[in-house]
Amino acid sequence: MPKTDFVSLRPSATMQRQLAELIATGHGNQTAVIHAAVERMWRAECDAAEPPRVVGAVEVLSKIAACLDCNTPIGVDAGDGLTAGAYAILHDDGSVRGPLCAACADKATNHYVE
Ligand SMILES: [Zn+2]
Repeated sequence: MPKTDFVSLRPSATMQRQLAELIATGHGNQTAVIHAAVERMWRAECDAAEPPRVVGAVEVLSKIAACLDCNTPIGVDAGDGLTAGAYAILHDDGSVRGPLCAACADKATNHYVE
């Protein structure tokens, strides 16, 4: 059997405690916990290689009054420390990026307009 079929590890005291807690809270046995841990790390580190797609932009009230992309002041003071006329870029994975000025929001969404 190839060597890679088995992983032997010597858990630290902290890891032993964490494993015991995860097993106690119903995440399966030690093997199941390690499987889930690698799966999650892989999703976070490798599966995220493809950036989320831009699906649109919405005008928002922002607490930050400078464009994230070009750093120029954006919008108009709407009171309460908020700026109107800023844009948030929406992605297909539900994440949001911004605030952007109108020009940068146009640029960010232009490629994706159908
Ligand atoms: Zn900008």
